[in-house]
Amino acid sequence: MKLLFAGGKVWDGLAREAVAADVLVEDQHVATVGAVPAARCEGARRIDAHGATLIPGMVDAHAHLSFPVVTYAYQIEDTPPEETVLITMHNARTLLDAGFTGAVGAGSPKLRAEVVIRNEIEAGRIPGPRLMASTPTLTATGGLNDTAQIHQGRDVAAMVVDGADACRRAVRTGYREGVDLVKVNVSGDDFFPRPSGRTTTLAEDEMRAIGEACAALGLPISAHARSAESIKRALRAGATLINHADFADEEALDMLEAAKDRVFVAPTIGYYHSLLHDSPFDRATLDRMGVEAAMASNVEVHRELRRRGVRAVIGGDYGLAWQPNGANARDVGHFVTYLGYSPCEALVAATRNGGELMGQGAGGIVPGAPADLLLVDGDPLANPALLARSDALLAIVKGGGLHKSPAVPERIA
Ligand SMILES: [Zn+2]
Repeated sequence: MKLLFAGGKVWDGLAREAVAADVLVEDQHVATVGAVPAARCEGARRIDAHGATLIPGMVDAHAHLSFPVVTYAYQIEDTPPEETVLITMHNARTLLDAGFTGAVGAGSPKLRAEVVIRNEIEAGRIPGPRLMASTPTLTATGGLNDTAQIHQGRDVAAMVVDGADACRRAVRTGYREGVDLVKVNVSGDDFFPRPSGRTTTLAEDEMRAIGEACAALGLPISAHARSAESIKRALRAGATLINHADFADEEALDMLEAAKDRVFVAPTIGYYHSLLHDSPFDRATLDRMGVEAAMASNVEVHRELRRRGVRAVIGGDYGLAWQPNGANARDVGHFVTYLGYSPCEALVAATRNGGELMGQGAGGIVPGAPADLLLVDGDPLANPALLARSDALLAIVKGGGLHKSPAVPERIA
């Protein structure tokens, strides 16, 4: 299918502002940006882009497509595998409907839940974003997501690994079963009484074994790393994506900066915002979890990493009841409100950086790039909140295919 977006503005993922241009999509890719010769437009479906801005599709780099609408701590492991697969399928569609043409898994509760959905999406049988399918989180006994107890036979939503051999085996098992990346819990998390976010649970030799096995097999590592030491262990093991990084110290900041050509950080700031503003937790619970202090530290760290030029990506634990899947684009506004990003910088995090992290060539509107595009009613560089409004997403294109089309154009006053 050939598409022509005509009469609107284009923000290519690189420039500081949108410019007037037409865009021709052909053979699943961006063919031409600017003035398109009439002869090349023959047979193209023409989409009127007046008053709208074409931008690259967004990427959620810390996606939990397998989350049911989580309202209690053990709901993820209590959900049977069959339901988990269907929930993952429905959330994949929800993300694409919300303008996300890419998603990076952040820990699938079951080893093949994201793998099978990625395969179905790629085969064109179900709608969804390009998906990097994740392993379940690799965690030490007693680490985050090891919710088993000795008197229970709970099937945990993690691969529990102790010692370098178990770590290597988990990576190799994930590889055999078809994952695209390995998710590792290097620290704990204050959402649970213990281990806390300041506690580092995977040992140096375990993290190193994961790193070596992933490097040998070409699998990137996405690390849950809140404590300073967990960030360092993940970086020494070659991790590509550092999530959270709340309690980074000076040495961890320096290491992130030194690795900025190969690493990305996911601040996951929306997680804190929604805990404070949208969750049902009372003050005593939020205080017990130390939410305000952790958020203040997260904000300080990611303002500093922005100054140092470390690439950030959006996303983070959408799928909780108080920040459901589909609301993921709220992060763009949060980057501006909390982390000192300009709207343009926040859009780069939401589009180009995510595309670079995924490594499939998407994330920019340049000739030859895969055509993952959003037609936004108005100018998201002036008003990033538009991206979180489905009525403002006039068209959604993934791989040149029109997922949502402006057949009945509506204008927002
Ligand atoms: Zn997460």
